[in-house]
Amino acid sequence: MAKCLVTGGAGFIGSHLTELLLSQGHVVVVLDNLSTGRAHNLDAVKHNSRLEIRNGSITDPVALSEAVHGVDMIFHLAAAVGVKLVADDPVRTIETNIYPTDHLLRLAVQGSVKKFFLASTSEVYGKHPGESWVEDDDLHLGPTSRPRWAYGCSKAIDEFLALAYHKKFGLGVTVGRFFNVVGPRQVGNYGMVVPRFVEAALRGGPVIVYDDGSQVRCFAHVREITQCIAKLMATDSAEGRVFNIGSDQPVSILELARSVIAKTNPNVEVQFVPYAQAYSEDFEDVQRRVPNVNRLYETIGQKPVTTLNEILDDIIAWKREVLQSQS
Ligand code: UDP
Repeated sequence: MAKCLVTGGAGFIGSHLTELLLSQGHVVVVLDNLSTGRAHNLDAVKHNSRLEIRNGSITDPVALSEAVHGVDMIFHLAAAVGVKLVADDPVRTIETNIYPTDHLLRLAVQGSVKKFFLASTSEVYGKHPGESWVEDDDLHLGPTSRPRWAYGCSKAIDEFLALAYHKKFGLGVTVGRFFNVVGPRQVGNYGMVVPRFVEAALRGGPVIVYDDGSQVRCFAHVREITQCIAKLMATDSAEGRVFNIGSDQPVSILELARSVIAKTNPNVEVQFVPYAQAYSEDFEDVQRRVPNVNRLYETIGQKPVTTLNEILDDIIAWKREVLQSQS
């Protein structure tokens, strides 16, 4: 049993991770300022005596150092996330994603924290032209005049920092690059495609596909992602390394739209919208994003395998319940 700090623990991935850590018998401290996280994400566990919820920002040095007190493991998930949010406010992205990570790493070393998980993102690969992406591949970030790349760039700096703290101070750092994590509790407000499609279809449509929908992604269930994180943190050979964490089953965005429609309401229409209208004139998308997860599988003997079909069924059932409880 360890005492774990989960920054961003009221968020979509953070709340699922908090539940998993509690189910494994750990004590969990959540630090979240509820900017994109939601208090009700923790409803199922909020009365657990091993859970402490702190309402505070990682950008507040006092809140951060208080939260780290007596902690054995840190799971650093708090960040400005979502392509839309990040493109709308690049200053906030950089301030939230870089300085607090540096501060937290320093506090971890000072407080003799044993393990540190840094949540990173497939965005660090940028516009990588390859079929599937390997952890040690070069990064292909776009120009600084296009705000989207501020997110991947800020997370790449976090990775440099975390790996440097491992090398210099022996901190037990593991970096996980998430690839399109989806599941119950994810909301569409920050641009994420699956909750947007499901919600639009359940409300009668249309489902809005940007550009021609030929963009390719791999969607992984949040339940499997949190299992991979917990296993990595329990595996010594994962220390000081970077891991892709995601599904390696590609699907185009148009196929995704068609699957969602087939499962919800076949009368719903697809509407194609150009990027310039959806985001802004200077928006750039990533055409194909598929991880190579061999390193993950070789290290923990597990990789996300839930099919898109099963994932969509789970999300649609959850969303139906939410909509029913609101009506
Ligand atoms: N997308 C879309 N309609 C939406 C939201 C997103 O067609 O309402 C597309 C988006 O252009 C991208 C893909 O879906 O190609 C995945 O978008 P998301 O923001 O979920 O994640 P990303 O992989 O871009 O980080």
